[in-house]
Amino acid sequence: MATSERYPIGTPGQPWGEAEVAEWRSRQQRKRSYREDVLERVEDLRERFDVEQYGQLDYGPDTYPLFVLKGRGWNEELPCVLVTGGVHGYETSGVHGTLLFAERHAADYVGKVNVMIVPCVSPWGYERIHRWNPLALDPNRSFRADSPAPESAALMGLVEPLRDRFAVHIDLHETTDTDESEFRPALAARDGVEFVPGEIPDGFYVVGDTADPQPEFQQAIIRAVSKVTHIAPADEKGEIIGSPMVAPGVINYALRELGLCAGITGARYRSTTEVYPDSPRATPEQCNEAQVVAARAAIDYALRYQAGT
Ligand SMILES: [Zn+2]
Repeated sequence: MATSERYPIGTPGQPWGEAEVAEWRSRQQRKRSYREDVLERVEDLRERFDVEQYGQLDYGPDTYPLFVLKGRGWNEELPCVLVTGGVHGYETSGVHGTLLFAERHAADYVGKVNVMIVPCVSPWGYERIHRWNPLALDPNRSFRADSPAPESAALMGLVEPLRDRFAVHIDLHETTDTDESEFRPALAARDGVEFVPGEIPDGFYVVGDTADPQPEFQQAIIRAVSKVTHIAPADEKGEIIGSPMVAPGVINYALRELGLCAGITGARYRSTTEVYPDSPRATPEQCNEAQVVAARAAIDYALRYQAGT
């Protein structure tokens, strides 16, 4: 079977057990520092945000405190906005874009909305440049009740008391070449199914919610980001990564059913960004900028809509 040729752990056709997960985990190496790249920047932002720890991941010997930045001027009368990054730790511009958004635009929304920024939901994965947590679970399929992924459970715990007060949630991601070369084959091997090759779209796109797609909101994000980096075209089937493209650069997923992060609030406006950092036409700076612009466009759209009603 293709699985045995494509992925070196496990027995083709059989889902992984504890031994295979342990073998996989033993191969993951720490390649960068959450403390240096994220926590030091969060520390510097304490002057401009109320920084609160909302959880801690204990993956002995490593421990990872989890932080949320809350904008100043928090007002119970105002709607909340959630910007999340690093749900997939390897998706670098999600983390750095979230931090840049905080650094550059902290003051923009004071008195308009309550901004909550979670820069790195999955720090173990950030350090190892991996999609999964150490339990070989994808946090972004694990946003459900009694989640087995501590990263997802912690974020849901943070959001739950405010769940119905969010106007916007934008979750910043990337689609990368390693999705096809490593993470999809690993997923097929883990689940004991055959790996079916797919395509990686070249460019930025967003994922709305099938249950409430908000097409004008999604397209407002695409329009804003198209000034910074190119938008992914559909493939010859009219799809982006296997889903019909419903507008330029827009596809929809059933966010809640799939346990995706962008489904955790009751926000009317919710979207997942997908930056493509491996494009020969996109620099890391452009990718970070695309995330910042997407977050701003999402919030600005919601503010305009509210002002107009
Ligand atoms: Zn992702």
